[in-house]
Amino acid sequence: MTAVVIGGGPAGMSAAICAAEEGADVILLERNEKLGKKLYITGKGRCNITNTADPAAAQSRIPRGGSFLRSALAAFDWRALREWLDSLGVPTVEERGGRVFPSSQKASDVTRALAGELGRLGVEVVLNARVASVEFRSGAVASVTLRDGTRVDCGAAIVATGGMAYPLTGSTGDGYRFAEAAGHMVSPLCPGLVPLESDEAWTRGLQGLSLRNVVLTARYHNKRFFDEQGELVFTHFGLSGPLALTLSSRAADGAAWPDISVSIDLKPGMAPEEVNTRLAREITENPRRQLVTLLAGWTPERLARALPERCGIAPDTMAANVKREDRLRLARMVKALPVRITGPRGFDEAVITRGGVNLKEVNPKTMESKLARGLYFAGETLDADALTGGFNLQIAFSTGRQAGTAAARRLRSEAAY
Ligand SMILES: Cc1cc2nc3c(=O)[nH]c(=O)nc-3n(C[C@H](O)[C@H](O)[C@H](O)COP(=O)(O)OP(=O)(O)OC[C@H]3O[C@@H](n4cnc5c(N)ncnc54)[C@H](O)[C@@H]3O)c2cc1C
Repeated sequence: MTAVVIGGGPAGMSAAICAAEEGADVILLERNEKLGKKLYITGKGRCNITNTADPAAAQSRIPRGGSFLRSALAAFDWRALREWLDSLGVPTVEERGGRVFPSSQKASDVTRALAGELGRLGVEVVLNARVASVEFRSGAVASVTLRDGTRVDCGAAIVATGGMAYPLTGSTGDGYRFAEAAGHMVSPLCPGLVPLESDEAWTRGLQGLSLRNVVLTARYHNKRFFDEQGELVFTHFGLSGPLALTLSSRAADGAAWPDISVSIDLKPGMAPEEVNTRLAREITENPRRQLVTLLAGWTPERLARALPERCGIAPDTMAANVKREDRLRLARMVKALPVRITGPRGFDEAVITRGGVNLKEVNPKTMESKLARGLYFAGETLDADALTGGFNLQIAFSTGRQAGTAAARRLRSEAAY
């Protein structure tokens, strides 16, 4: 009996390779004209393929599905992934923050190596083949049908169709429909690791401004749930950059964004009192300087102008004319510049999908559905996602392996029976 893998991304390719290594006949169906279209653009084309964080640190970077993934990540961890890639002719190199990339810095080398391995193992790769449905007989997978009506009989189907993020790469949520048709629950889908929109005009005035070493804080109903230091970028719609992306993934499921208050600490190295004292001193020592010129010594000039404006003070006010209350307000603004966020951007700009196939209905050791025999899920289709750093690709490879191996073993045991 054949194992069909639906989707030729990292999860699907690794599933197909592992199933073939276990001796199964494998057909890999990919709707695009080539394999790994999303993989190709990962890490800005450099492909941040995994991360050397220890298991506890890695877990802290997986906001959803961490405990479900524990066994897959232990069975095939970053070391195993690096060794495997090395054996396929793709040596890797570790960079800052434990991020691992192909030494060649080319995502295309990873896809090429995986495609080569699929060929070597005799996997039948069918491109331009979009699966429309998965069929079942007596509670078990029986076949999959392509959009053009072609039916492929199979004893196992591995759904590795990705999520909804960057749909131009082919991931448009088909796998969720297959899961629902099989009776699975799919938890609400929303964009993750995605920029944030603001309806405040002043943020647009700062378009292109990148702030390094600032702290972004977010509170939900006055409870602080996010407080991280890093880089933030103002855009024509609001906030982007690593901090904004991480916040988008850390926000609680279902939290209404207007209820989340967000602020930026522009001087995290200074206590509020220090900011106030230094501002007071600079004002006293430079009475004839304009406020904007003084503040430009603290922050980029465009922000030096926006800060007093946000306090209702004209930026060109002479320092000598700045009242005490204004100075206190300015100092508070430096430590907590509020930005009203209306919500995340859409799937078109998201790195990952939040939500997916309910993990309670999937066996974490085999990735097999608990509802339908021979149905497996791998990669982003699952309701699991991580922050940036290479963890999402590691999840795709680890779950793909579990699913491929388990599917092949099931087929073998059924054939023997
Ligand atoms: C811009 C960007 C950069 C990223 N950079 C990184 C990074 O550096 N490191 C990292 O860890 N993660 C990164 N990610 C996330 C990572 O790419 C995904 O987590 C990963 O690709 C998920 O793998 P997957 O195999 O589950 O899904 P995908 O890679 O989405 O693959 C799914 C495949 O299934 C195919 N498919 C879908 N429906 C059907 C169907 N009905 N029939 C047949 N085929 C179908 C699709 O065409 C696609 O090829 C990035 C994501 C984006 C968008």
